[in-house]
Amino acid sequence: MAIITDLSGKTAVITGSNSGIGLGIAQTLAKAGANIVLNSFTDTDDDHALAADIAAEHGIEARYIQGDMSKGDQCRALIEKAGVCDILINNAGIQHVAAIENFPVEKWDAIIAINLSSAFHTAAVALPMMRKAGWGRVINIASAHGLTASPYKSAYIAAKHGIVGLTKTVALETAEEPITANAICPGYVLTPIVEKQIPDTMKQYNMDRETVIREILLARQPSKEFATTAQLGGTVAFLCTAAADQITGTTISVDGGWTAL
Ligand code: NAD
Repeated sequence: MAIITDLSGKTAVITGSNSGIGLGIAQTLAKAGANIVLNSFTDTDDDHALAADIAAEHGIEARYIQGDMSKGDQCRALIEKAGVCDILINNAGIQHVAAIENFPVEKWDAIIAINLSSAFHTAAVALPMMRKAGWGRVINIASAHGLTASPYKSAYIAAKHGIVGLTKTVALETAEEPITANAICPGYVLTPIVEKQIPDTMKQYNMDRETVIREILLARQPSKEFATTAQLGGTVAFLCTAAADQITGTTISVDGGWTAL
């Protein structure tokens, strides 16, 4: 995918970026020349090797900083340890599916903490850094579920609607500065977490892989195609260009028409 911006000298901190969408965004921003801070709650050799591989491939600086985004103090420490944060991508997220009356309280609390509150904590530390640098981008990875609902995903939908509201507030608080804040709302993206659901769903519905993808997973995605991590990386890269200087406080859907229904 063509990159239309040069992010040399900028540093991007991406929460929840040792797999899936966060890793895809990190790779795209590294390709555009940005230095990268990867994060997750684990601290393995593989995590650090991911950062080393990205640095070697793109000739940029990349670090892996462990931090549990369910804990406010660790969210703040992530940005403090990064030391500089021109581009903040709040991407860490988890899901749990259950009816409200059976929804485990600890799952509700974890989803609200990781998918919503972490973005408040990271922004609180990153915004002064962006002001000092005279430029900044806050990009929150929400979801089509930040704009629409589905049953049995109460915490996820509350958190994703919440992050859309938080995005608008950050945009208004920075409106007269060279800082923008936007939310990207993906539909279904074929990440490992989605890939893992396919075999079980095939068994559950007695369907082949293609039918499960088309009729079950992509039931609400009119394009009948997954969005890709590279497309999300490209959308983030676009939001980092000067062409996007006046795009702030809004949502960009990358959902194959889901929210047009
Ligand atoms: P994923 O499971 O591959 O990635 C989630 C990332 O968050 C992982 O790197 C994981 O290690 C990290 N993470 C989880 N808990 C954490 C914690 N406590 N602290 C720090 N990091 C933590 O899933 P994904 O599909 O790449 O999801 C990334 C984001 O995109 C999420 O916010 C998700 O809600 C959103 N999203 C995904 C889809 C999709 O179809 N895959 C669609 C819309 C939105």
